[in-house]
Amino acid sequence: VSHYVALVHHPVVDQTGAEVTTALTNLDLHDIARSCRTYGVAGYFIVHPVESQRQMVQRIVGHWETDPRHDFRRAALELVHAVPTLQHAIDAIAIAAIEPRPFVIATTARRTPGAISFAAARQASRDEARPTLLVLGTGFGLADSIMKSADAILDPIVGPTAYNHLSVRSACAILLDRLYGIDESLPPR
Ligand code: SAM
Repeated sequence: VSHYVALVHHPVVDQTGAEVTTALTNLDLHDIARSCRTYGVAGYFIVHPVESQRQMVQRIVGHWETDPRHDFRRAALELVHAVPTLQHAIDAIAIAAIEPRPFVIATTARRTPGAISFAAARQASRDEARPTLLVLGTGFGLADSIMKSADAILDPIVGPTAYNHLSVRSACAILLDRLYGIDESLPPR
């Protein structure tokens, strides 16, 4: 089955916990697309409710589409789809890809009761007869409504220090490696 990633710009929270909409960044678009391409993700959804921001996604992707010197960028950016809500991403996976509704996995830097382990998420992405959709936040993270509507919340990535402010781009690369990466130090299966 296929795996998908969504980057949510609304609803997310700000530093005070209030629900906000964040602006698209070029870095998130490029870097997450390249991580997605590396780990075999079938589609990268940019979730943004503002039409002009979604049009900007199309303009950036379009810009890199034609120049043959940038084939590697095109190969990554062609995974990108701009959608107004997370539900649109879920529907697009279920309808366009002719696959069942994805198993939606929300991510957070905080420990959450009932969260699933990386091992369980990795197993689910192999066993499930459904694709998985890994949902990432911007701002200060995904709003409660997204966390509650997800099928599962994934354990956080934890380092040996109390500093807990990974960029979403770094978090995404680590998450994709843990879920879909190949560990070359292990004997072949
Ligand atoms: N403006 C920020 C930036 O520089 O990228 C956005 C931060 S946003 C809160 C970070 C997102 O990355 C989270 O919503 C989550 O999806 C993911 N993330 C960050 N730290 C994480 C961690 N320790 N474990 C799992 N996911 C994490």
